[in-house]
Amino acid sequence: MAEEKTGAELLREELFRRQKHAYEVLSADEIARADAFCEGYKAFLDACKTEREAAAWMIQRAEGLGFRPYEEGRPCGPGEKFYVNQRGKAVILAVAGAQSPERGLRLTAAHIDSPRLDLKAQPLYEDQGLALAKTHYYGGIKKYQWTAVPLALHGVVVKKDGTKAIVHIGEAPGDPKFCITDLLPHLGKEQEKRTLDKGIKGEELNIVVGSRPLMLEGKAEGFRLHMLQLLNEHYGIAEEDLISAELEAVPAWSACDIGLDRSMIGAYGHDDRVCAYPCAEALFALESPDLTAVAVLADKEEIGSMGNTGLQSNFLWDFLTDFALGQGANPRKMLRNTRCLSADVNAAMDPTFPDVLDSRNAAGLNKGVVLTKFTGHGGKYSSSDASAEYMAWVRRILDSAGVQWQTGELGKVDEGGGGTVAMYLAKLNLDVVDLGVPVLSMHSPFELAAKTDIAMLYRACEAFYKAED
Ligand code: MN
Ligand code: MN
Repeated sequence: MAEEKTGAELLREELFRRQKHAYEVLSADEIARADAFCEGYKAFLDACKTEREAAAWMIQRAEGLGFRPYEEGRPCGPGEKFYVNQRGKAVILAVAGAQSPERGLRLTAAHIDSPRLDLKAQPLYEDQGLALAKTHYYGGIKKYQWTAVPLALHGVVVKKDGTKAIVHIGEAPGDPKFCITDLLPHLGKEQEKRTLDKGIKGEELNIVVGSRPLMLEGKAEGFRLHMLQLLNEHYGIAEEDLISAELEAVPAWSACDIGLDRSMIGAYGHDDRVCAYPCAEALFALESPDLTAVAVLADKEEIGSMGNTGLQSNFLWDFLTDFALGQGANPRKMLRNTRCLSADVNAAMDPTFPDVLDSRNAAGLNKGVVLTKFTGHGGKYSSSDASAEYMAWVRRILDSAGVQWQTGELGKVDEGGGGTVAMYLAKLNLDVVDLGVPVLSMHSPFELAAKTDIAMLYRACEAFYKAED
């Protein structure tokens, strides 16, 4: 016979919060479903390494499910599905609810841009028998991580007449790839004295694009000329066209399972497609919600949400007010009553580098979605800092839907920090908190996330879109 629990044990059970591990709470069937969901996510990752590709993928998927382009001012009936294509780099997806928009929206926001290397306006040059391309990194990267790995080139070149060449080199089987060289250790003595930050400098991120000169009548006529000739053959472009181009060098590998148990996914661009995909998929599965559900998949988060496809632009506000007015609703009242999840990744505890996080408050893999009250740095600078009232509501909807969740923070106090789009959404006068997937090696070319956490975010979004006030 089991011994009776002591008073202290009973009190502990009643009062202490115990963080559970996903594998304590998920059934074998739920784990199998999480794994299956992640197969779809891996295919999305491989098809979408840039914001343009992710936006196009989302629109194609949405159209296949009956979503139509949003028409400004036209009233939307309950259950109507529509989208906004924001200049090909950001997308708003929406399903109209049965209630008036003045009751508020259920809004999720994730971003589909990731750190990478952009080609400069005049990238091509030749030196020491090599053709190379100059880059300018986008977002926060550790530059040394981008050398000596295979790179692919994705993007567009727009000619003066407006015609557009789509560039996508290094992904199909048999495609050539690119790379950035690093110094051999034998000759790296001086380089190794540099701080890690300057181990590879910005102007050293030069991509090798060729080594064979153009041969004309038996004479070598140059490497840069040869590369331009090849580009001209394939895309009909000349060097000046590269000035009106957006060419992004990204890791040339596919998403794959990690671990003997296949419990994780290693990939480029988890941040933040690992949240964008569940937010969108849960919205795609919605039929006739009570409140209007909206997912915005934004660009430019990695550089501060600037630009006309980032969430500091008015494009989301424009759509939301147009939608409210089209339904005969007051947009300001709608926004006041709107609840939002800023779905972005957070740092998971890395056993190799435990010192930068407070283990009592940090997130970990396979412990569920990360609920982060505030991000920012220093004394909560540049943070939205969700209210206690809203935190309580989010806890309630997650718990009642059986969503496993954990708290998180972006590093120990004064360790560093970072931000999300939450503060730009808060500016609209709605309630917002960060909820996302914990990742390891964030912003590296190969980030790591756990399958149960990814599937848990889908479940969280599903519950959120349907949640009552
Ligand atoms: Mn992010
Ligand atoms: Mn990021």
